[in-house]
Amino acid sequence: MLHKNSVKRVVIAGGGTAGWMAAAALSKVLGKHIDITLIESDAIGTVGVGEATIPTLLSFHHLLGINEPEFLRATNGTFKLGISFENWETRGKNYIHSFGKTGREFWAGEFQHFWLRGLGLGIDVPFGDYCLELQAAKAGKFAISKNPWTNYAYHMDATAYAKYLRSFSEGYGVKRIEGMIEQVKLNHDSGFIEAIILKDGRVIEGDLFIDCSGFKGLLIEQAMHTGFEDWSHWLPTDSAVAVQTESVTPPLPYTRAIAHESGWQWRIPLQHRVGNGLVYCSRYQSDENAQQTLLSNIEGNTLTEPRLIKYRSGRRLKSWNKNCVALGLATGFIEPLESTSIHLVSSGLIRLMRLFPLGGIRQVEIDEYNRQANLEIENVRDFIILHYCATKRTDSLFWRHCRTMSIPDSLAHRINLFRETGRIFVGADELFRVDSWTQVMIGQGIIPEQYHPAVHEMSDIELTQFLTKERNLIAEMVAKLPSHQDFINAYLRQK
Ligand SMILES: Cc1cc2nc3c(=O)[nH]c(=O)nc-3n(C[C@H](O)[C@H](O)[C@H](O)COP(=O)(O)OP(=O)(O)OC[C@H]3O[C@@H](n4cnc5c(N)ncnc54)[C@H](O)[C@@H]3O)c2cc1C
Repeated sequence: MLHKNSVKRVVIAGGGTAGWMAAAALSKVLGKHIDITLIESDAIGTVGVGEATIPTLLSFHHLLGINEPEFLRATNGTFKLGISFENWETRGKNYIHSFGKTGREFWAGEFQHFWLRGLGLGIDVPFGDYCLELQAAKAGKFAISKNPWTNYAYHMDATAYAKYLRSFSEGYGVKRIEGMIEQVKLNHDSGFIEAIILKDGRVIEGDLFIDCSGFKGLLIEQAMHTGFEDWSHWLPTDSAVAVQTESVTPPLPYTRAIAHESGWQWRIPLQHRVGNGLVYCSRYQSDENAQQTLLSNIEGNTLTEPRLIKYRSGRRLKSWNKNCVALGLATGFIEPLESTSIHLVSSGLIRLMRLFPLGGIRQVEIDEYNRQANLEIENVRDFIILHYCATKRTDSLFWRHCRTMSIPDSLAHRINLFRETGRIFVGADELFRVDSWTQVMIGQGIIPEQYHPAVHEMSDIELTQFLTKERNLIAEMVAKLPSHQDFINAYLRQK
């Protein structure tokens, strides 16, 4: 046991998405056992981006008991079925990484083996034609269905989301303090955090501190010097410029990720506006040029001034150090290509609640938390790198760098296995499942040289019938779906 004292007082430093997600989950689940105080500074504000999510947010909301139409009304939210990657493999070539399942799998292997044999038989149909969510996204359609289950996530206004969670958390007894954190008081002997001292002199003592203070990591790094592992040699972007625009078309049920010369642009459609941003590498593009690129690739009038954000990809060496747990940007950052940061906050929180040190802080629990957090973020990192390294673009220094840069061994193995055999395996705890890997690998032009021989259990005619039936079924289901906009209109009227 590192620290005998039971954990009663939890102090959250920061009130961005991470801080209020932490306050909401901890107060809802453990509120009877702990007192929670959240400190935030209006003068500093939040990062103000982070508006695209992945389906795991539904589970987080389920845990909180959040009413979906109410949440969507509060955050001007829309539905998201996946991400459209445009110009990534080569200019003019697009694919969608959807949240859905592609085709059906059999004992011998996943659907890609059947699709590959189909190609050999002349059934030259895109892999995505066998995925319901992907086809619905392309058609601009959406509905929630339980059978078959629709895999979806949300686009939402980040500022409104933090506000929504604030009122939720205050309803569960979270105390909010507005003030500027100036100092973090550490115990001389143990190095544990004893208190946070505000600019006006107030002292906020606690047993466990959650660092949600953003990139700077006020507690975990500036006070505790935990250390940072830099991944910029694998994830070359380090800057973003963001701007909001008026909507000029009904919202698409997917995020757009459009590759440009030295990075990529996001478009996130909400009910009332669109979030836009350009992610780029400052070694290859100046801030001024990035701003110009963004402003000449948006639709609708701008609603905000373009805002510049600088970051470093990588992770804190320990997400949990002594009596400090870092969440959100304070624990590390992987650029937003697959909208994974908010997910990492919720999975960190679930991990923390499972290991919560109510009876005192133990090193063995800290180690387990960090082991799981490290594995999770490394898997996400590999998946993001895949999009860059599997490009065939040679039209700029940036893309030439991405094509030839070294990649982690774990990713190189995965790509080679898929390329040579069509096989993909993922660990039980990995966020991105086989469907995600196959969609992105095939989308980026990595086509396996072989398929599983067991596919030959089906005759040519049986295989052709199987593929045609799967495709037709999906086309029929998509034809019956309402438009995304019509669904939102009807759904938001529900209580
Ligand atoms: C360009 C970009 C695009 C992104 N897009 C996505 C996306 O599409 N999907 C996704 O999941 N994630 C995305 N993210 C990540 C996402 O924005 C963050 O994970 C999320 O917003 C959580 O941020 P945070 O709460 O950790 O930090 P912040 O929003 O920076 O909040 C920090 C908080 O700490 C407070 N604070 C800081 N210093 C002090 C102080 N001295 N005293 C008192 N309070 C202080 C601030 O006031 C604020 O309340 C994106 C990030 C970037 C940079």
